[in-house]
Amino acid sequence: MSELILIVEDEADLVQSLEYNLQQADYRTRVALDGESAMQALQTGDPDLVLLDLMLPDMAGIEICRRIRNDDQMRNLPVLILTARGEDIDRITGFEAGADDYVVKPFCVDELVLRVQAILRRSQHGESDLHADKVHFGDLHIDFSAHTTGVSEELVELTPLEFRLLEVLYARRGRTQSREILLRDVWDIEAHVMTRTVDTHVQRLRAKLAHCGDYIVTVRNVGYRFRADPP
Ligand code: CA
Repeated sequence: MSELILIVEDEADLVQSLEYNLQQADYRTRVALDGESAMQALQTGDPDLVLLDLMLPDMAGIEICRRIRNDDQMRNLPVLILTARGEDIDRITGFEAGADDYVVKPFCVDELVLRVQAILRRSQHGESDLHADKVHFGDLHIDFSAHTTGVSEELVELTPLEFRLLEVLYARRGRTQSREILLRDVWDIEAHVMTRTVDTHVQRLRAKLAHCGDYIVTVRNVGYRFRADPP
């Protein structure tokens, strides 16, 4: 069966156009026009990805995103945020609340469908096929087929995007990756987006990896590098 996209949005015209274009791309869709029906659809609908408007009549989209990330069943569910132009603070908050990507309204629906495809692709395969299934690097443990990460035998919960970021940095260890390269290869977007996005995610990933966070080295004014050899 094709993947189910939950559209959480209260603008009827936009909903219609999203539904039409996603269905053309062979996705199933379900619509929630407010936060309460979104929470219901999340619990009963088992969606594969959520398109989430930030300004809903009854609830902030960010709150829904937080609830998804704090829920054991849904924590890995990809979330793509739909935000109005110029809501920079909301964008950053969106990533801090665990969104995988965002688009700014008004957006080109074709481009949005491409983003959806990219997110679903990377939540399903990623670059993991190229690696050994499991690696140990110092105290860090990565299982590429199970998509799990551990530090000193403790399981670490990463979002699909954080896992992807770790995967890309690890695969290129010893080589500096600029923020632009990371945006392209982790987010599948060209560098017209704020590079702050990358920094926010690297900070979160490092924090979750505890002392193994030090394996990701900041290269001043350029980007990041995963250390070449384990300590
Ligand atoms: Ca709205």
